[in-house]
Amino acid sequence: MAHLPALPDDPLREEMETSIERLDLARRYRALDRAPAFPRTEFRAMGEAGWLGLRTARGLGGRELPLPRVGNLLFLLARSSGTTFAKLALQPEFCSVLAEQGSEELVGAWFRPLVRGERLVGNQLTEPSAGSDAAAIAMRARRLGDAYVLDGEKSEVAFAEEAEAAIVYARVPGADPKREITAFLVPQDLPGITRAAGPPDLGERWMRRGTVRYSGVRLPASYRIGAEGHGFDYVRRELVRERALLAAIYLGVARASWEETVAHVERRVAFGGPLSAQEAVAFPLVGDGGRLEAVGLYVQRTLERLDRGEDAETDSAIAKWMATDVALETLDHAIQFHGGRGYSGELPHEQRYRDVRSGRIAHGPSEVLLALAARRLWHRG
Ligand SMILES: Cc1cc2nc3c(=O)[nH]c(=O)nc-3n(C[C@H](O)[C@H](O)[C@H](O)COP(=O)(O)OP(=O)(O)OC[C@H]3O[C@@H](n4cnc5c(N)ncnc54)[C@H](O)[C@@H]3O)c2cc1C
Repeated sequence: MAHLPALPDDPLREEMETSIERLDLARRYRALDRAPAFPRTEFRAMGEAGWLGLRTARGLGGRELPLPRVGNLLFLLARSSGTTFAKLALQPEFCSVLAEQGSEELVGAWFRPLVRGERLVGNQLTEPSAGSDAAAIAMRARRLGDAYVLDGEKSEVAFAEEAEAAIVYARVPGADPKREITAFLVPQDLPGITRAAGPPDLGERWMRRGTVRYSGVRLPASYRIGAEGHGFDYVRRELVRERALLAAIYLGVARASWEETVAHVERRVAFGGPLSAQEAVAFPLVGDGGRLEAVGLYVQRTLERLDRGEDAETDSAIAKWMATDVALETLDHAIQFHGGRGYSGELPHEQRYRDVRSGRIAHGPSEVLLALAARRLWHRG
């Protein structure tokens, strides 16, 4: 038996593990890759059990846990059942712009039901001509009396056909083009909206990403989130927390494959001894274990800083970049050291690899995160 580093502990760990078992999440994670669909039943059950509002304020139906604890719980959830349910648990976090800036009516009608797992709210920022450079979005929201009229196209978005509503970012034409981006809560059944899921992705297929087109969509002005022209500031602040928490998820997924690989190479005999006796196998696994621990500590420190209200934008960008890279390398070794079965769908490593691979693109591509860190290091902009 190998000596593994201890897992993070938490007073809610046992309760969470019971839920994972009862909802059969590890098996569902695998099944959703083969038959991609939004896991509505599990979403509801997770809401009922309180797993969707880990960080959400108690007053809004959440558990209001400090960020380092949320990171640990997401790590454990991801270790047990892949990215899917850990990301679902983060969905209210991905919508915290609504919780923090939305009117009481909007929060009551959409955010609270999201935390209960009753209504799915997505995020729509990316457009065909603006992804990494999100400040360049073109979608328009023209003010017309007590309404806005939305025209434009959102692309690459998760839950394209599934979400009941989405936080949509659009430009309200104004005096200062740098201050036009505004957030709206848009119910997805309004006239003028056309939605289409795209072809299956490499991983995270349950998200069923796709395109949403808006043509003369009339939205009551009360569906605006926060102030006109402040949408980009809101989403930028939200991304800082998201990135650090996503880092914890990717590390949790990689930890699962690492543990399984450490056990496998001890059992598997080749060339007269266990694979673990081959330095070419053992050394990369030792390195992966150390780096998972080291990056995990960095992620925890980042979450602590965020929890104290400190500026940790650079730290969270670096945390996601490092966690994604270390996780992918660990998962690649897991595939490699399981040999032919590692490459096949019989074992979970290839699915985990495909799912975590999205981490180099979504919520800020790695290069963009490094560019952000470089700008801040040398005080450029
Ligand atoms: C699984 C998944 C889920 C997603 N969910 C959503 C969602 O729910 N809502 C939503 O709005 N969007 C979503 N996206 C879209 C995602 O946010 C964008 O794909 C991402 O921002 C990159 O934008 P882009 O695809 O237009 O790539 P581009 O902006 O065209 O960039 C392409 C590549 O160029 C490189 N690059 C870009 N800028 C720079 C730079 N400054 N320096 C160096 N290299 C650079 C990077 O490698 C980047 O990946 C999702 C994406 C994925 C993969």
